[in-house]
Amino acid sequence: MRVVTTPKERAWSEGLYQRAVEFHGHGGPFMLIGLRMGMLALRALDAKGWFGIRCVARLHWGPPDSCILDGIQISTGCTTGKHNLDVVEAEGVTAEFEAGDRVLVIGVRDGILAAVRDEQTEHGDESEEEHEEDSGGLMRRLREMPETELFEVHHG
Ligand SMILES: [Zn+2]
Repeated sequence: MRVVTTPKERAWSEGLYQRAVEFHGHGGPFMLIGLRMGMLALRALDAKGWFGIRCVARLHWGPPDSCILDGIQISTGCTTGKHNLDVVEAEGVTAEFEAGDRVLVIGVRDGILAAVRDEQTEHGDESEEEHEEDSGGLMRRLREMPETELFEVHHG
């Protein structure tokens, strides 16, 4: 059996984003947040990705919120098919990552969720579709802002 041995990238790159857009079909704010969440988890847990890491995502199990799941899948290699990604319907957006005996819980800050939802309401847009075109400013902020401003992180 072929197994990928190259570790997953742990820092933002345009290539990673492009692969994520190709997988997901568009590049919206929730998908972008999922990418950053996953890379933070890999670094904090010193995980290579794909195997040896599990994720339980707690969020609204429908788009646009659930677009985060595709960002997590691309960045960490935790996938539904390998069943190292589980989804639990919940308020807010939190993901628990486990590697070895280490656990990390990453929550998207309420202010960030509110900013993304405001932007979508402003554009009368229930989904992420066509959203990225209108929200260049928001997308850039989400890509560049420090992880501490995006996420609340707890070590389990
Ligand atoms: Zn999406």
